[in-house]
Amino acid sequence: MRIVQIPLLRDNYGYLLVCEKTNKASIVDPSEGEPVWRTVQEEGVELVAILNTHHHRDHTGGNEYLLQHKPDLKVFGAKVDEHRIPGITHRVMEGDDVEVGEEGGTVLFIPGHTIGHIGFVFPGMLFSGDALFAGGCGRVFEGTAEQMTSSLGKLRDLSGDTLVYCGHEYTEKNLQFALTVEPGNEDIRQRLEAVQALRSRDEFTVPSRLDDELATNPFLRCESDEIKYGMAERFPGIETDPVSVFAKVRELKDAY
Ligand code: ZN
Ligand code: FE
Repeated sequence: MRIVQIPLLRDNYGYLLVCEKTNKASIVDPSEGEPVWRTVQEEGVELVAILNTHHHRDHTGGNEYLLQHKPDLKVFGAKVDEHRIPGITHRVMEGDDVEVGEEGGTVLFIPGHTIGHIGFVFPGMLFSGDALFAGGCGRVFEGTAEQMTSSLGKLRDLSGDTLVYCGHEYTEKNLQFALTVEPGNEDIRQRLEAVQALRSRDEFTVPSRLDDELATNPFLRCESDEIKYGMAERFPGIETDPVSVFAKVRELKDAY
């Protein structure tokens, strides 16, 4: 499967997934329609499906436009969000299959950012939407810290060499924040430098490898002593179980 990464809006990414055997393609999170449709033409592929990770407009804003140009598109979205995914045709849940031509993937239910957030897993790749970012995670808008912790726990269990394709280019700011909660983590320092070099040349910092996330992403590291004791020091009296630590780190990030 070939991935065409499409920068959309200010800092969103859409991903065109192309099955090279059949030339069929699916688009993950079309924030807007026109640039996605243009890419489909340029690539000379047949768009057959939209895969939406969640209902936010910056992930579904292009659904209608694409459906106008290709009314028989399949639109995959979470069953619990069927009322707010424009044009939904395939209501999916944890473990359901999605296909891109002859390439198969599965749905992971990873709520927290929204109550119906899903991810798509293909061999060696995760499309994580706004659940997991490079160096960070999404704001907990609708779910709870507990839900988000268990969603991130599912992602943490994927193979370390999985490439993480997330919904936004937020990596630099995420890693700057990460350093404030884990200043002794040398891996974060090195990654931030590499990311700043990429950004200074206007290059993408996404996808990232899951094992780099495990080493540097504070939201996957709420069991690290430095983060745990750091939070206990800043917020005297808090519990230091992973959910409570996550909630505090998230709170600090929301205000960062
Ligand atoms: Zn979102
Ligand atoms: Fe978003």
